[in-house]
Amino acid sequence: MASRVVKGGHALTEYLNASKAAEPLWGDVQKHVLDRASQPSGRRLDVLHPSEMVKTDWCHRAAFHRLRLNAEAPGRGRSSFTRENIFEEGHRTHEKWQNWFSQMGRLAGNWKCRLCGTEFWNDTTPAECHECEAPRSCLTYAEVPLNADPLRIGGKADGYSPRDGALIEIKTLGLGSLRYERPEFLERYMVETESFGKVPDLTRLWRDFRRPLPTAVRQTQLYMYLGRHFEDLEIDRTVFFYDFKSTQETKSFSVIYDEAFSEPLIDAAAAIVDCVAADTAPYCNLNGRSGCPSCLEFKERK
Ligand SMILES: [Zn+2]
Ligand SMILES: [Zn+2]
Repeated sequence: MASRVVKGGHALTEYLNASKAAEPLWGDVQKHVLDRASQPSGRRLDVLHPSEMVKTDWCHRAAFHRLRLNAEAPGRGRSSFTRENIFEEGHRTHEKWQNWFSQMGRLAGNWKCRLCGTEFWNDTTPAECHECEAPRSCLTYAEVPLNADPLRIGGKADGYSPRDGALIEIKTLGLGSLRYERPEFLERYMVETESFGKVPDLTRLWRDFRRPLPTAVRQTQLYMYLGRHFEDLEIDRTVFFYDFKSTQETKSFSVIYDEAFSEPLIDAAAAIVDCVAADTAPYCNLNGRSGCPSCLEFKERK
C-alpha cells in the first residue's frame, strides 16, 4: 500500500532532497523550480510535435493515444533541477541570438504584444503592435509557427531569415545538455586521468564538433518540410548556431533541405490521424503486438 503512495521516483527524491539543502534559500529555490516544472506547461497535447516525431523511439501507437485522450500518459513529465536549469539556459540563449538578428532586421516570425495579447507575423522587427500600436518594447518575439493542421503537426522554429532563405536553429552545447541528449557522443570523449579518474575532454569534443547532432538535423528537415508545404515560407536551408557553454565560443553549420528526408514521417502522421478518425489504435511500430514502454504507459487509461 505504502509503495503505491510514494510512487514518484527520481523527481520526488530530488524534491525531498531539496528540503535537506544546507542553505535554506538554495533548498527553497530548488523546490520552487521543481514546483513550476510540475505545472501544466502549455505544451499542446492535441498535436504531434516534430521533436518527438524525429526520435528513433517515436511510437505511433502512443502518439495515437495521446491525441485521442488529449493527455500524456500518467507519470510523464518528471524533471530535476539540473534539467530545468538546462532548459532555462537554452531559452536565454535563444533570446540573445534572436535579439541580435532582430536588431539586424534579419528576423521574421510571429510577435506577441504584452499589452493586448495579439500575435502577428512580420517579415522584420515591427516598430509597433499591429493591433493596438503599443511600442516595440511591448513586443516579444514568438518565433516561427510551423503547423500542418490536416496532419495535426504543430511546431516552432527558433527563427527565420527571409533574406537568407533560411530557418535558424540555436543550440547550446555543454556537459549538462550532452549528458541528457547525447550520452553516447559524450562517452567518446571520456578519458582516463590519474588524479580524477574518467573525465570528459571538452577541448577535443569542441574541436571535433563539425556538424549538428543527428536528432537536430532530422528535426529541422521536418521543420523545413512544414515551412515549405504548409506555411508558404521560402526556405532552402537551416543555419545552426551552437554556443559552447565552457568557452562561449560559437560554431555555425548549414543544412540543405532534402524533401525525401521527411516523407516517411509525414506518411506516419497521416496514418495516425486516420486511426484517430476511425478510433482504431495502430499497432506499435517499435514492438508489434506486445507494445513498447511508451504505448504500454497508456494501457490503463484506455
Ligand atoms: Zn498590442
Ligand atoms: Zn509502442
